[in-house]
Amino acid sequence: MSTLPLRPGLEGETPYGAPELEVPVRLNVNENPYPPSPEVVQDIADAVAQAASTLNRYPDRDFPALRQALADYLAVESGVRVPWEQVWAANGSNEVMLHVLQVFGGPGRVCLSFTPTYSMYPEYARDTLTRYVAAARAEDFTLEVDVVREAVAAHHPAVILLASPNNPTGTALPLDDVRAVLEAARGQGPLAADGSATDCVVVVDEAYGEFRRPGVPSALELLALEDGQAYPHLAVCRTMSKAFGMAGLRLGYLAASRELVDLLRVVRLPYHLSALTQAAAMAALAHREELMSQVAAMRADRDALVQWLREQGWTACDSDSNFVLFGPFADRDAVFRAMLERGVLIRVVGPAGYLRVCIGTPEEMEAFRRSLQAVTSDLPRPQRAHTPKEIHA
Ligand SMILES: *Cc1c(COP(=O)(O)O)cnc(C)c1O
Repeated sequence: MSTLPLRPGLEGETPYGAPELEVPVRLNVNENPYPPSPEVVQDIADAVAQAASTLNRYPDRDFPALRQALADYLAVESGVRVPWEQVWAANGSNEVMLHVLQVFGGPGRVCLSFTPTYSMYPEYARDTLTRYVAAARAEDFTLEVDVVREAVAAHHPAVILLASPNNPTGTALPLDDVRAVLEAARGQGPLAADGSATDCVVVVDEAYGEFRRPGVPSALELLALEDGQAYPHLAVCRTMSKAFGMAGLRLGYLAASRELVDLLRVVRLPYHLSALTQAAAMAALAHREELMSQVAAMRADRDALVQWLREQGWTACDSDSNFVLFGPFADRDAVFRAMLERGVLIRVVGPAGYLRVCIGTPEEMEAFRRSLQAVTSDLPRPQRAHTPKEIHA
């Protein structure tokens, strides 16, 4: 029996995270499989060395240079330009979203999301003493506007978290759905201290945004409206961990109204982004073309994988991300373990019976295909592809 004064609510909780196993083919945490080139490594090393010469000093607390570089990147990637004051960054987008919950969540407040979705969201809520409410996504894993309106009216959430493309289904939300949520959120947040109405803050988590298929818009476009219709309660979250190939750097960011960003500055720890992180991120952003050069190929590999899984008789979800949800398996844990014995690490996550695999190098994908065929050769296939509704069930 422990004598430590554990906070109520944390009883029995365990640290979040996928298994970290040293196996030849790791396709379980949606990383970019291509390491930075020697030139990129050298530039990062030079930038870090330069920053190291002033490590006796605290880093730049508001890091405008990095925020400008991120704004420039967003302008190139999505065509939407925001001033650096509308960009915020932290150690991974996980920390960025925690900042959002620290500012807007808290005791008596609600964070709303729509499942199946990213399994960290309940943890941001737990860690900020915010109540987490999960409503259901539509049958095709987008949103049902009526369900959104009902949930918003019932709970008056302070924060709504929308992953788009969603993890683990890969589904990107149509901009109309995001717009509908933003409209439903108006005036429906918790009452302010003086009794006045507030808007729910809507976070669109675009961690996989760069993998979206051509023609699929980014919610950043909704930030750019300048005809009085702009959404001061919208935040679009991005990360350098996925498409950008810098998961080890720990750099996530968001774009939002200046008002919202300035509130995040209230809760960040002083000097939360180290001088080394800032220097390395700026150096990496200068190489964005090279670091992102594999993204188009990875998108094509993803589409080919969906196709192949379907040819094998499995159900595979359409994906706008760098991973694919597939199944169903009567015993998905057994399939996971048998794959692992063959040196291929995937992820047990999402709807019952389903597994998630992310896009690796062509050699890794070949190993995945060979292993899956070997492991599932005797397993019954569904008579026809399951609809998203059946995946849900
Ligand atoms: C991976 C992931 C993130 C972010 O991770 P960071 O490495 O903390 O930037 C955020 N949201 C979703 C849905 C993810 O899958």
